[in-house]
Amino acid sequence: MTTTLLSETHREVQALAREFAQREIAPNAAAWNADHHVPVEVLRRMGEIGLLAVTVPEELGGAGLDATSLCLVVEEIARADAGTSTAVAVQNGLVAAPLMRAGTPAQCAAWLPRLATGEIFGAYALTEPDAGSDTASLRTRAAEHADGWSISGSKQWITNGGFAALFVVFARTGGPGAKGVSAFLVEPGPGFEVGREIPKMGLHTSSTVELVFDGCKVPGVNMLGKPGEGLKLALTTLDGGRITIAAQACGIAQAALDLATEYARSRVAFGGPIARFQGIQFPLADVAAKLDAARLLTRHAAALRDAGEPHGIVGAKAKLFASAVAVEAADVAVQTLGGYGYSSEYPAERYYRDAKITEIYEGTSQIQRLVIARGLLGDSAR
Ligand SMILES: Cc1cc2nc3c(=O)[nH]c(=O)nc-3n(C[C@H](O)[C@H](O)[C@H](O)COP(=O)(O)OP(=O)(O)OC[C@H]3O[C@@H](n4cnc5c(N)ncnc54)[C@H](O)[C@@H]3O)c2cc1C
Repeated sequence: MTTTLLSETHREVQALAREFAQREIAPNAAAWNADHHVPVEVLRRMGEIGLLAVTVPEELGGAGLDATSLCLVVEEIARADAGTSTAVAVQNGLVAAPLMRAGTPAQCAAWLPRLATGEIFGAYALTEPDAGSDTASLRTRAAEHADGWSISGSKQWITNGGFAALFVVFARTGGPGAKGVSAFLVEPGPGFEVGREIPKMGLHTSSTVELVFDGCKVPGVNMLGKPGEGLKLALTTLDGGRITIAAQACGIAQAALDLATEYARSRVAFGGPIARFQGIQFPLADVAAKLDAARLLTRHAAALRDAGEPHGIVGAKAKLFASAVAVEAADVAVQTLGGYGYSSEYPAERYYRDAKITEIYEGTSQIQRLVIARGLLGDSAR
């Protein structure tokens, strides 16, 4: 659907990502997930075809495309495997994007070309054990010294953390609250430790770790953006990232719908395919309609971003709606497959587990509702 609304370039990007995802990822997704294998080698190959730095300018090694293109890429990768698409979403949306927004020319030149090729991977470290939705309460501290900063504290749930070489870390450089936070570009070294891989319900092809900083030295030139403006950068970054997660949700929903419709046509019960039962047809029809709507909303948010228009609230709506559609689509897929839907020998149960994360990370569904409500009601909603 909605392919007709895409430009020629967008259709080419979609075809490139789809072809790669269906050839290199989809056939391996079940085995990788069962083994909890993070396919870094395949991620690296995505760098060769421009999928790791979709919106980075060509002169810095990127594909020089727009947010709509990034959505198309993430949706296609997610349709093949959600966990793999999370790495792509983080590299593009949470690492390259804040670098492009706030990085000095020297920082951009040092990091973006390497992120683009997949020579290195990046991670975005905002969440802490005691600070998730309430980002302004983060406690990791950066103390200033003669030639830079010394970071101490811990981070939780950091995607790509098990293999990243660059971490965008948000730490407190001033007093309490939002204005006391700054952002840093941190490389692994003394005083920095990657903790355990956190066991998860799904997304088994994605690395999610704890980070521990104990006097980790960061040169002064590695501050990203201005002192005290770190949280603003973190939240602006998430405004864009949410659109990418909405696209990921659309990809998971599409995979679930594809599986369920194919199964409904071939599974025979009571003398014919189960596809002839209204009880099978209507949930599939509902998901198909909602998925079209989710995709249009997601692409609308991306188009606003591409036009330089405010997109935070529409992005929140897109993530809120698309993630609910992904969860519903996966549920319908499990139900359509019956007992086979509950078996790990079919992908429906993986979609079911993977879809749920889209309602949680980069702002839970409650937080998206908060953003939307504040847009509607202004200060009276606070
Ligand atoms: C697999 C995975 C990968 C992740 N990757 C990253 C990453 O790469 N980098 C990173 O920094 N973080 C990452 N996260 C963290 C993620 O963004 C947070 O888990 C999420 O923002 C929620 O924070 P929390 O878990 O602390 O929940 P809490 O903030 O403690 O929320 C608990 C519950 O309370 C609700 N709640 C909280 N505040 C409100 C409110 N004001 N109104 C209504 N309800 C509220 C929440 O919606 C939720 O239901 C990841 C998480 C997971 C699970």
